[in-house]
Amino acid sequence: MIIKVPKGTQDILPQDIPQWNYVENSIKEVLKKYGYQEIRTPLFEHTELFVRGIGASTDLVTKEMFTFLDRKGRSLTLRPEGTAPVLRAYLENKMNRISPVVKLFYLGPMFRREKPQAGRFRQFHQFGMEVIGAASPEADAEVIIASMEVYRELGLKNLKVLINSVGCKDCRPRYIQKLKEFIKDKLEVLCSECKERYHKNPLRILDCKRESCQKIIRETPVITEYLCLDCQQHFKEVRSYLEALGVGYLLEPHLVRGLDYYTKTAFEIISGELGAQNAIGGGGRYDGLAEELGGDPTPAVGFAGGIERIILAMNQQNIKWPEARDLKVFIAIPTQEKDHKLRAFKLLQEVRKAGLSTDIDYSSKSLKAQMRLAHKLGVKYTVIMGEEELLKDSVILRNMQTKEQKEIRINSLVKELTSNK
Ligand SMILES: [Zn+2]
Ligand SMILES: [Zn+2]
Repeated sequence: MIIKVPKGTQDILPQDIPQWNYVENSIKEVLKKYGYQEIRTPLFEHTELFVRGIGASTDLVTKEMFTFLDRKGRSLTLRPEGTAPVLRAYLENKMNRISPVVKLFYLGPMFRREKPQAGRFRQFHQFGMEVIGAASPEADAEVIIASMEVYRELGLKNLKVLINSVGCKDCRPRYIQKLKEFIKDKLEVLCSECKERYHKNPLRILDCKRESCQKIIRETPVITEYLCLDCQQHFKEVRSYLEALGVGYLLEPHLVRGLDYYTKTAFEIISGELGAQNAIGGGGRYDGLAEELGGDPTPAVGFAGGIERIILAMNQQNIKWPEARDLKVFIAIPTQEKDHKLRAFKLLQEVRKAGLSTDIDYSSKSLKAQMRLAHKLGVKYTVIMGEEELLKDSVILRNMQTKEQKEIRINSLVKELTSNK
């Protein structure tokens, strides 16, 4: 029996790579335009980083992390998200010395032990951006606008921003008190997990997707009515910046997001037809995270979105992908004679050197089979190295679209091909 990929993981096969490259390149282009610089952090970190950063009682930390001991018994965890590692790198490398506000983006695999289901993987890919060192509401607005542009640039339709404020360490406790009072006599109806959350981390009840819990969640008091003046003002200004740029948003007062580190702004971006609205990414402000990780107080705001979700949404919305494979030239040889193959091999390199993606068939098939392959590969030109022509130092150049072919001297082939790119 052959060995298969671990549960919840997948291969990204050559035929899918052009889509991935297209999405990743497009994300990078947009974020560079907004002044973000790429950062790459390790795939695993000390477990403590996530326990302290994300919150010890979140689902992510209690149930979904891939944690293991190294040979010296130290606990390590495959990164389940990108913000805590980026902030760790920022603090460790004292990046605040470079400039007061640092804008970073990342792109890569994350790991969560989720129940495998359609579109959810245990190794999945995220891109994200972080503005570190900025307390101003413009930074929140910019992150929302930049993430919207990422999706818009890829052609995703019906984009909407859901926005909320989750308060700060001064005003949130008051809200949590109200929330507990409200839920207290309804505790019996909540799912067993929410019963536990009620004691450990009541705000997380608002994340529960179970319909029985949702019914109660919809009735709970909303956090925006309990915000302190500073949080109120901040939330108002974020919205005014969005309004100034004509970015539509919906207030979603029960949106809290699954991680403990959010403060003030929390938002999600959804794309798709009404009725099938799915969050394709989300983010928010996390002013307390740097201190939680042992650094100086550092305000920050960020966003993260899944690459698999983007590809799924683009396919659902029938968005046209770029050419799957961009091979320009194919070299076909009618004989398998050694000297003949050598000449073809040399010519192959010459055409490649001229900057044209070129390939040849190594499986020694008939000329007819090679022509079929060239057609299947979708190349623009096929160079046929016929025996007769070779004697005259010529080849046949066939335009695969017009089906025209002509004899051409080998030493003018590259010139001909590059002039007709
Ligand atoms: Zn507050
Ligand atoms: Zn529940």
